[in-house]
Amino acid sequence: MSRILVVGSVAYDTVETSAGRSARQLGGSATYFSVASSYLADVAVVAVVGEDFASEDRAMLRAHGVETSGLEQAAGDTFRWSGSYREDPNTAVTLETRLNVFAGFTPRLRDSHRSAPYLFLANIDPELQSSVLDQMAARPKLVACDTMNLWIDSSRPTLVSLMRSVDTVLINEAEARQLTGRRGIAAAAEALLEMGPASAVIKRGEYGAVVFHRDFTFAVPAYPLVSVVDPTGAGDSFAGGFMGYLAAVDEAGPEALRCAAVVGSVMASFAVEGFGLDRLKSLSAADINERFGAFVELTRFRSLGEGQGLPLAVR
Ligand code: AMP
Repeated sequence: MSRILVVGSVAYDTVETSAGRSARQLGGSATYFSVASSYLADVAVVAVVGEDFASEDRAMLRAHGVETSGLEQAAGDTFRWSGSYREDPNTAVTLETRLNVFAGFTPRLRDSHRSAPYLFLANIDPELQSSVLDQMAARPKLVACDTMNLWIDSSRPTLVSLMRSVDTVLINEAEARQLTGRRGIAAAAEALLEMGPASAVIKRGEYGAVVFHRDFTFAVPAYPLVSVVDPTGAGDSFAGGFMGYLAAVDEAGPEALRCAAVVGSVMASFAVEGFGLDRLKSLSAADINERFGAFVELTRFRSLGEGQGLPLAVR
């Protein structure tokens, strides 16, 4: 049985970035999440694709050990999204969304999926996110969700009610503001936690991410890449690293959440190094370990045992 179940989109994206344009590349929230988490834990995906879905794309997921029995094929075309990052690499401007097969999709979980201990409700219609949560046989150990501006605009009540049932929400800064009506990141996080989850992870593009938990706050930078090729999927890859780590250590205490956020940043940094999944799908254990080490170095500023105060007398 897979440790992690993810429901989300599987898509063909067309993106414009400062590095160029890439048409009809494999994408979708569940795709990036599955591939990123597959390096750490067993994952099963629930989504729908159309008749145009390439067998190589399903094979790529399988080659990563992703369990695809919940990846249904329906009549029609696969979900399409097109977006541009030309103005700002941290903000996707949606040019077009075509739901296609997602318009008529009702996820029906197999028995083997219903008891997954870790559930990620990736960015997709909140009705579908809720329907998957409702079908779980027992309350998973950890339920996390993501969303985006489209659903905050069109499905706010469903989203707000979903928030009552999740442990962690992963959301980008602009969406956190939009959902809560609060401007500052800490104020928005406070409002998110009041909605129900025990922690909120606010993703800030090239500025990293902040974990706001009822008991602590932890900030992780993004890896300082000189060249970001395609920011698409950074958020979902972060979530894949984050959940993959928690599922692998089977723990979600403060230390585990901090480390999970670093692993999330590691995966996001790989995702943006190539168009689509080009870089993310071809990582070795050494690549991942090396970048994790780079994060340790990036965030280290004193040795353990030096205490909490400044190393000199404040005047
Ligand atoms: P992110 O990790 O936030 O960059 O997510 C990028 C992915 O989200 C793209 O690969 C898109 O296919 C997918 N996406 C965009 N809009 C939607 C939507 N309305 N519902 C579900 N997935 C979407």
